[in-house]
Amino acid sequence: MVILHQLPRLHSSIFLTKTPFLYTHFNLLPKPKLPTKTTSTLFSALNSTLSTTSEPIPIPAHNLDIPEETHVPISIEKLFVPPDTDVSSDTAASLSTRILKGSNIVLSKYARDAQVSQADFVKSSVDTQACPSDGLPEFALVGRSNVGKSSLLNSIVRRKKLALTSKKPGKTQCINHFRINDSWYLVDLPGYGYAAAPHELRIDWEKFTKDYFLNRSTLVSVFLLIDASIPAKKIDLEYASWLGENQVPMTLVFTKCDKRKKRKNGGKRPEENVNDFQELIRGFFQTAPPWIMTSSVTNQGRDEILLHMAQLRNYWLKH
Ligand code: GDP
Repeated sequence: MVILHQLPRLHSSIFLTKTPFLYTHFNLLPKPKLPTKTTSTLFSALNSTLSTTSEPIPIPAHNLDIPEETHVPISIEKLFVPPDTDVSSDTAASLSTRILKGSNIVLSKYARDAQVSQADFVKSSVDTQACPSDGLPEFALVGRSNVGKSSLLNSIVRRKKLALTSKKPGKTQCINHFRINDSWYLVDLPGYGYAAAPHELRIDWEKFTKDYFLNRSTLVSVFLLIDASIPAKKIDLEYASWLGENQVPMTLVFTKCDKRKKRKNGGKRPEENVNDFQELIRGFFQTAPPWIMTSSVTNQGRDEILLHMAQLRNYWLKH
């Protein structure tokens, strides 16, 4: 069984406002069709936060696995504040202790039960209708081929070969469900952008993954994997904006953050690529989507992903 670090103590007084559901981080600027109540409630909460805490949030030195000199403070409007979480009474210093390591994600009272004690491959489905129908909440992992999706999946469940089940011939184009602790699912979706894939296969992929994103009612959030060791790819930017435009909840998971050799990686370090990616998608979102830096080599971000999934899941289950 995996025991996570003890959560920082949270003050009950900071959880005062109710923000409906999770649709708080992918409201696109050109799309005013979102439920106005959701948007306005969220924005009044954010505005009150901004007026009380306007300085950039210093991320403590221990809070990033990157050299001291490269720490960049995150301004408050770039933080992801989970629903039903009020940060208006936090000072910049107290808020910085609630940010998950190597991410822009604020911890909420829902971040509990984040351990993985059991993980089982359940089934491969050819379309959304064939997916498990037991109503358990799920998170879908998706990204370009070779982004490190199988490695991350294995690192999250602490198994060497679990995700390989979905790499067997014939399973790569399926929606693969893994049940965690008999109570929620991790879903492995086929990689996109594989140059060698035949045209028809790519069209098929588009059709069934998009159908899954739009119609899977138990999908709590998509985890979009982005390789942080190379500069942003057009296809990843397109993918992120498609999810935003279609109001599919999304978390950006930056992979391979241990790869620090500048010259090999297009001249930039992972944290620079992470910042660049944020900048490039900023115009598409009203509020910053949650993002988190990971490495399957060092297990950076593993516990943090599980805490983030736990807080989204527990909120989802309650509402
Ligand atoms: P997938 O195609 O997205 O499932 O990617 P894989 O998990 O099979 O990984 C693709 C390649 O990237 C393999 O050679 C992995 O060893 C490597 N890789 C995956 N994750 C990491 C990581 O976090 N750091 C480093 N340095 N390499 C990684």
